This record gives sequence, structure tokens and C-alpha cells, in this order.
Amino acid sequence: MNVSDSERLSSGFKNMGFEQTEHLADADVVVLNTCVVRQSAEDTATGLIGRLGKNTKGNDDRIVAVMGCMVGPDQTDLRRRFPYVDIWARPQEFWPILETVGIRHGIDPEGCLAETIPENPNIASYIPIVHGCDKFCTFCIIPYRRGRESSRLASDIVHEAKMMVDRGVKDITLLGQNVDSYGHDLRPRIDLADLLEQVNEVQGLERLRFLTSHPNDMSVRILEAVRDLPKVCEMINLPFQAGDDTILSNMRRGYTRGQFLEKISQVKEVIPAVTLTTDLIVGFCGETDKQFEKSMDVLREVEFSKVHTSEYSYRAGTYASRLMKDDVPRLVKKERKLIVETFQNKIQASKNLTLVGNRYQILIEGYKRGRLFGRTRGDKLVYLNVPKSTRISTPSPGQIVSVEITKSTSWSLEAYLSSTIMTSKKEKVPVG
Ligand code: SF4
Repeated sequence: MNVSDSERLSSGFKNMGFEQTEHLADADVVVLNTCVVRQSAEDTATGLIGRLGKNTKGNDDRIVAVMGCMVGPDQTDLRRRFPYVDIWARPQEFWPILETVGIRHGIDPEGCLAETIPENPNIASYIPIVHGCDKFCTFCIIPYRRGRESSRLASDIVHEAKMMVDRGVKDITLLGQNVDSYGHDLRPRIDLADLLEQVNEVQGLERLRFLTSHPNDMSVRILEAVRDLPKVCEMINLPFQAGDDTILSNMRRGYTRGQFLEKISQVKEVIPAVTLTTDLIVGFCGETDKQFEKSMDVLREVEFSKVHTSEYSYRAGTYASRLMKDDVPRLVKKERKLIVETFQNKIQASKNLTLVGNRYQILIEGYKRGRLFGRTRGDKLVYLNVPKSTRISTPSPGQIVSVEITKSTSWSLEAYLSSTIMTSKKEKVPVG
């Protein structure tokens, strides 16, 4: 979400005639876009703002702006601590930044925000569709900093998708902290399934995804849209966060382990070839070894394709920071994370091994460590070998090619190019 916000603001600046510089000393305007999902991220941002202050002394013309989740509704304390910061802007509050810069530099920013689509977007790019979150999980700061859920108009999103495709994007991920709740605040009411249907119609777009889901808001309608719409990839990120009912209740996640597993069964029933990923927190306040084992049970039962694991950490401003004790020792948290990662590496290695010998459609994204790479519809990273003797030329970023998987590890696949094809379609074999 933050990368996407930075790209949008940067595009607004380009429309005003500014250029990006990698050197702080050359910058007339510095914007620090902050993420404070963890206390350590906020500490890093605070340190950077301090450094900006030292750097700004003697350069009175420079404009310093701080944007993002660090900036809550009340900025009194931030203004007192960092008096040299000219602009404090909440997430997606681009206008006050452009307006202040416009006034100081004598440029009219009117219209510069009308189109904040990156000029050279990546082949796989993001579109935020719903901001904020109404869920208030006890460990999370997002609802306090990004505010309540607010959905963007479908017509604006579709327009943006078309513009991005015109600039070379082939794979779009629709973003929201709770993406499944898209549209509940719009009138006439619309949901994520309706939006997927509309974006699916965008000519030239090949692949469509969405992040991040909440088990309570993932409806059968959304699952059926994933199954039926040709461009929507068969992948779902469904965070479970913990496998024990007491911990889930203390996290205020709004579901039990049984309900989560029922949801997983429903997902697999509607989309048999689905790629499932999840998020898990280890060492939440009071989590015993036995309760952690219940998280492991869920991992064993579902066999996710990827697990994003975090060690719980104290986050000032959250419900948990006020009323619960961060009492699981750091070493125990580390150990639990390692147990999850070791288990998951094995699962991923064996899942990826089953893909060897199969053919898949890969969307070429570019070069990584000097090697051509792309991704499957299930978001598997594939490095490509183009045999010298082949009559097929080396594909370019943005092309979809058919490949045969020849090698696998826990984290990536290797493949030989078999043919170049023109459009993405639902595959009959598992998407990985
Ligand atoms: Fe935070 Fe996600 Fe819970 Fe919303 S659903 S409060 S973003 S963890």
C-alpha cells in the first residue's frame, strides 16, 4: 500500500515538473512515507526524521514532508518534536503536500493529482481500492492510523486499470487492508466480486489478483468470481494469525479455529486449484507452547503455499499494548518462528517438486540477478532458460509464455521455454 502511495505522489510531482533524485543533498523537496505497523518500523521512521532535521539545517528552502501511517489525526506531539517538518500528511493525503510545494515554487498543482498513475509502472502493479480497516484486531495499529474503511469508486478504479494497462501493466493486484469488504460503504452497494467482474473486462489486462482478505468477509460470491472470471488468478491470501481459540479471541479476530478451517474447506471446494497463502503471528501475549502447537496443527492440516510469519511485538497505541502483557520471551518467539519456517520450507519444497514436468503459463516480468524471470498465476517465481537451439526468440517483459518446469526449490522454480502464447487463461493443471 505504501509503495503504491509513494508511486502516486511521485507521479503528481512529475506532473508538476519535478524530477526524482537519489541524493538527499540535491533535493528541494523530501517526502518520507512512513509505515508504523510495527514499533520497530516507527522507531526507524523517527530516526530518519531526526536525520532529516540535521540535514535540513542551513537549507531553509528545502521542504520536508512526512506522510503515511505515522501521521494520525492528532499531530500536536509530532509538530512539537519535529518543528522543521513543513507538512504532516495522513495516508493518501497527497494534496496538502503538492499544494505547499506548489505555493513555494510558484507552480499551480491544479490537475496534477487528477492522474497519479506511475509513468513507468512495473508489469505487475497495484491499485488501492479500499483504505483503512474497521476490524480493530487488538495487536494492530492500522485502524487508528489509516482510519475507517473507505472504498474508492469502481469507475475510478476501472479507469486507473485501463491507464495502467496502456502503460504496459499486465498483472494488477487490487489492494485493501481488508479487501473483501470493498464497497459496503458505497451506494448503490457493490462488492469485490462486482469490481473483479468490471476490471476483468479491461482490454489488454492479463491477470488480476487481490490482497489481503479477512476470513469473515470472504464471501462465496467472491470465491465464485475467482473461479469464473478468466483473468482472476486462483490465489487467496487468508491470514489466520493463530490456531488457538483463546488466542484468537484475545486478538479479537472474530472467528474460531474451526470457523477458519471451514472457510478453507469452502475455498478449496469452490476453487479446487487454489494457491493458498496465510499470515501468522507467533508469541502473542500469553501464548503457551500448547497454544503455539495449535497453530502448527493448522499449518499441517492446510499445507499453505506460503506463510508470512511475524513474531508478536509490542506496538504502542494498540489495545494489546494497553491491556495485555507481552510476556513470551524473545528467544521463545524466535524459536517458534524458526519452527514454522523450517516446516514451511519442507512443505514448499515438496509442493514445488510436484510441479516439475508440468507446463505453465508464465508472465515475464524482467531480469533478476541477471536471469529472465516470470510468475505463474499462482505467483510462483520461475527463472527461465531459453535453449540456444530453439527457434523461439527470448521473450520480453509483459509476454506470456508456456514453459515446462525442470527444477524446483522451496522458493523458486526453473523452466525451459516451450512456446510463446498470447493470452492468459485458466489452466487445467494445478496452478501451483
Ligand atoms: Fe489490522 Fe488486518 Fe485486523 Fe484490520 S483486519 S485491524 S488491518 S490486522
